[in-house]
Amino acid sequence: MSAVPPSSSVRVRFAPSPTGFFHIGSARTALFNWLYARHCGGTFVLRIEDTDRQRDAEEYLQVLLEGLRWLGLDWDEGPTVGGPYGSYFQSQRGEIYGEYLQKLRDSGRAYDRDGAVWFRVSGEPATIDDRIRGKVQRLEEKDFVIVRSDGSPVFHFVNVVDDIAMAISHVVRGEDHLSNSSKHVELFQAFGRTPPVYAHIPLILKTNGPGKMSKRDSGALIEEYQRRHYLPEAVRNYLCLLGWSSKNDREILPIDEIISLFDLPAINHNNARFDEKKLAHMNGEYVRALPAEEFYDHALPILREEGLLADGPAEDYVRSVLTICQEKLRGLEELPHFCAYFFRENFPMDGDGRKKILASGDPFARVEEFLAAIGQWNGEWAADLLEQFLKTFAAERDRNSSAYIHPLRYAISGQTVGPGFYGMLAVLGRERVLARLVRFSSH
Ligand code: GLU
Repeated sequence: MSAVPPSSSVRVRFAPSPTGFFHIGSARTALFNWLYARHCGGTFVLRIEDTDRQRDAEEYLQVLLEGLRWLGLDWDEGPTVGGPYGSYFQSQRGEIYGEYLQKLRDSGRAYDRDGAVWFRVSGEPATIDDRIRGKVQRLEEKDFVIVRSDGSPVFHFVNVVDDIAMAISHVVRGEDHLSNSSKHVELFQAFGRTPPVYAHIPLILKTNGPGKMSKRDSGALIEEYQRRHYLPEAVRNYLCLLGWSSKNDREILPIDEIISLFDLPAINHNNARFDEKKLAHMNGEYVRALPAEEFYDHALPILREEGLLADGPAEDYVRSVLTICQEKLRGLEELPHFCAYFFRENFPMDGDGRKKILASGDPFARVEEFLAAIGQWNGEWAADLLEQFLKTFAAERDRNSSAYIHPLRYAISGQTVGPGFYGMLAVLGRERVLARLVRFSSH
């Protein structure tokens, strides 16, 4: 449980059914609940709605917990931390459901038919006062089943019982549950309780087209971003914008600022559209803005995992490589490909890059000319001096520096893009650079 006691009576919950991997939509629901709890100084409860026992439940649960931790959405009560309300797994709360069922039987609101237990509706319209939607009125016309004939309790019943038993003050959940709310309000009233404050968050639409985003859409699962080395802060920041905005045009915001600005009425009424490119772009901004030391800590295991540090390069060298690459990276995912040639000689030569430099002149002639001159040069191998050298050298031949830079970069790195050219030469060092130029010109 959180070390700081809650300073408000606001209690919200994220109540996932672990029936699949951790989806962007679920993560956004968890995030909005967490933001609201932190905004109010309230309590964020994690409750696992696992009454439909299924085969992969344990694996799904682990992925979910790990995804929440990765996003930094710490829960104050729930699995692994406990809390004062018994188990936070619905599959272990049968006794509590039995007691509540008895209350409904005693008041005549529950009865048996065809082996199942039914709830008797009031016949009065239920008013749902939603913080995002406004007032919604709906009449629940028909009695409905709350315990199936096999004895398993139905979602509506256990969901409401637990919201009562766990003293939940605000229910923040996806709009797909709005249609369930009239059943829920009926149940609260049958237990003699005032329903919680509702806030139904608009749907997330897929990138193209009118449909709701599904698990099968590209970019839909949180674990995919974990695997692709996205920064969790960037993913979390992006998720905040799916239905909420700061109203000051700033999109990249530190989480503390989002927490202080966040509120339920500030959530947008319109559906949000998922934009994978925007998320990738935002992730790039976060990566380039990381303090050098943090960037190093993120990058090192990725390089290691790719086998790029197998020759045991000096730490100083690795740091210099990372320093010049960071500002050009679009994401940590591309780091191994982006910088492999700093760590191995048998790096691949990009095919399209080759076509490009062949189309813009005679790269072999340019590389040979430069090689002849630089081989004679005794200057200090430093970025600014190399720049001076190349500029003078090109001017003497009535050419633009770029006429040399492009073929040289390709010869040295096998790519047409990369870190700043002179920094790259300086970090690679004289010996490596000359050897690669010789190799390229004797193609
Ligand atoms: N278990 C439900 C779900 O995953 C929770 C609904 C609610 O938040 O009330 O959709």
